[in-house]
This record gives sequence, C-alpha cells and structure tokens, in this order.
Amino acid sequence: MAPRSSRIPTRHALEWIPRQKQVSLLDPLVKVFITQNAYIRICAHAGSDLDNEVGGWMAGKYCRDDITNDQFIVIDTILAAPYTEQGAAHLTFTSNTQIALFDFLERYHPDKVLVGWYHTHPRMGVFFSSWDEWLHKNFFSKPWQVALVVEPYTSAGGFFIRQKNGAMDTQAYFGFHELINQEKKSKVFWKNLEPKRNLNTLETEVLVV
Ligand SMILES: [Zn+2]
Repeated sequence: MAPRSSRIPTRHALEWIPRQKQVSLLDPLVKVFITQNAYIRICAHAGSDLDNEVGGWMAGKYCRDDITNDQFIVIDTILAAPYTEQGAAHLTFTSNTQIALFDFLERYHPDKVLVGWYHTHPRMGVFFSSWDEWLHKNFFSKPWQVALVVEPYTSAGGFFIRQKNGAMDTQAYFGFHELINQEKKSKVFWKNLEPKRNLNTLETEVLVV
C-alpha cells in the first residue's frame, strides 16, 4: 500500500526518546506520531490489569511527506483486543480476531489503516520476545506496521519499528512523537523516555508532566 501524501506534523509534536542510549539505534523506516487521546487509551487499558498481558490494535494513517521524504504513521484510534487468553503468559492474536478487526475498521473507520499493535509486559520490562517477533511477522507484516510494548507496573513503554532494509532490531526500542493539543500540555508519563528539546519548534512551549 502506498503512503498518502501529507506534511509531517513535527512542529505540532513533542518528541520522546529513550533515556538510556540504546546499543543500536539504526534508521527506522517510519516515524511514529500518536495523538494524546490514543496514548491515554493505551495507558488506561495497559494499567487495567497488572497481572496479565493485555493488548490491542492501533489504527490511523500511513503517510509520506513529499518535501522531507519522511515516512510516518499517525496513531489516532485504539482498539482493545477482546479475545485474549486471559492468564496466559502472552497475548494471542488469531486469524479470526484479525478478520473481525478488518471488518470493524472497514465499517467504522474506512479512512484508517491498521498501523500496528500494542501489548503489555507487566513486571517484565520493555523488550520484544521471540513470540512477539513471530506474531509481528505473521500478523503485522507490512514494513511500516509497528509494535508498542508497555510496562504498566513501572510506567515504561517503547516502539519496535522495522529498519529501512526491512529488518527489526528486537533489542532496541524507539520513542515517538506526541501530538500536542491546544493546551500545550504533555500527557506522557513513561519514566524510560525523555522529551527531546528542539529550539526551533513549538516543542519548547510544551509543559511536561
Ligand atoms: Zn510480548
């Protein structure tokens, strides 16, 4: 699928980067933007169960800026997965849940695409397991689809994004760009990320919690 043409909303966003410099931060294919509502919905779902993994899908837009040549996704719609195996050590997506999801998107959000999935690792940390990798490869195979892992117990999170060559580093996670609303107040509270200040943009005016 070709990305739609759109200006990258860097000037309306606050970039969050990992506090701890990671071993290999390579060149991700897409930059991730997320609306504050979507971020809050993920956090609310992630915090609803501190003993079992929960997860769901992230929908929105896949775009390219024709001027900067950047590819990016905008996450603005969050759908909690209804059919997980509660109590299991990992979250399960099945062909049936994926089909139900595509039906739902087509019916209620025909202008949106599936940009990825999220799930929690309560008390386990932000990493990509071999199961996560298998799932990502099989159900989210488009190069621009991403995965978000949330650690609700310690308040941490990070994105796993494929490189331009299609490979994904399962050891290194990325931050994201928080789309800032009129209030210019950040909603991000994950302790493993820090805001990246850029003097030339609106970002300096944003109040961080
Ligand atoms: Zn996992």
